[in-house]
Amino acid sequence: MNNYDRIWATVDLDAIKHNMAAMKANLREETKIIAVVKTDGYGHGAVPIAHEIEDLPYLYGFAVATVEEALILRGSGIRKPVLILGYTFPYCYEKMAREEIRPAVFREDMLEEMGKAAVSCGRPVKIHIKVDTGMSRIGIRPDESGLAFVRKCMETPGIEIEGIFTHFARADETDKTPARQQLEQFLDFTGRIRRELGIHIPVQHCSNSAGIVGLGEANLDVVRAGITLYGLWPSEQVAKDIVPLEPVLSLRSRIVYIKELEAGRAVSYGGTFVTQAPTRVATIPAGYGDGYPRGLSNKGSVLIAGKRAPILGRICMDQFMVDVTGIPEAKEGDVVTLIGPDGDDAITMEELGELSGRFNYELACCLNKRVPRVYV
Ligand code: PLP
Repeated sequence: MNNYDRIWATVDLDAIKHNMAAMKANLREETKIIAVVKTDGYGHGAVPIAHEIEDLPYLYGFAVATVEEALILRGSGIRKPVLILGYTFPYCYEKMAREEIRPAVFREDMLEEMGKAAVSCGRPVKIHIKVDTGMSRIGIRPDESGLAFVRKCMETPGIEIEGIFTHFARADETDKTPARQQLEQFLDFTGRIRRELGIHIPVQHCSNSAGIVGLGEANLDVVRAGITLYGLWPSEQVAKDIVPLEPVLSLRSRIVYIKELEAGRAVSYGGTFVTQAPTRVATIPAGYGDGYPRGLSNKGSVLIAGKRAPILGRICMDQFMVDVTGIPEAKEGDVVTLIGPDGDDAITMEELGELSGRFNYELACCLNKRVPRVYV
């Protein structure tokens, strides 16, 4: 950060480590963590975060959404397992095999093509079988057809079954019954695999963040920690007192202009805010082009010198205005907190999500590339 930065996001790597340790403290001794760093680490920066935690003994590895994301981690020197959570297209199977990237597998044609790639590059592909127990997204069914699929995995040359997993649809709700039903289906299925096919798949996983904080029995060999790694909550319905998290990202900018407006002046596009009295207005050089949600227009606020300055009118692509009438000490060049603490107050991603009608996950992921990340 320097005096000329228009906007910057500070990513606190100690908070990432704190959150890893806090989650681990709520897991059984033998349960390891997969850090979910897709979408560039939920907008926080996958590579610096992966390097910060790779050596933790209880970190099993990383999960991403695409092979490109996996290759970025490998290219940066990450050696622990990297799992692709979604469908992987055939054009990259050889590269994936060479880099020992683990795919989620749930289609027979994937198996055949991956097997060929493994044989041609002389390395087995370690797969994680995806089971659909309630998301109706990707995954085999936990029934006879699923058992036939697992048998096919066992028989395909070049394929090594390393893991099997499912994903909760509703573990972030107060009522854990639907998540428990999914878990039960998954455990029944892995039990059948053991009894009827005679294999024990070594890496079994179900829990996402909501499972980690609220469904202890779902924490199997590994858990997949996404949003909680970044100190954010999967929903307002999860217990927040079991795993003490620290927010990782703060977002700041600077006042670039202050003007005094008389009563009756419209502010920003559409004139949706009109001053009712003389008003001191500060312009902030950030906007929805940075990922700061337009839904905060006339609703949100920022912190200046530890005090709330309400947003006036619509957020523009690269600028917005706030009311600093109540902050007489505010001046051009002052730091403005869009997300994070300032004095005794703090603005959370959850608060912005609520006000703007968006989702904390979405806000973090949508923080634009043009916002520099500063790692501390
Ligand atoms: N596992 C899978 C399959 C996912 O799709 C995701 C996120 O979308 C996660 C784990 C991590 O979820 P969360 O961020 O809620 O921990």
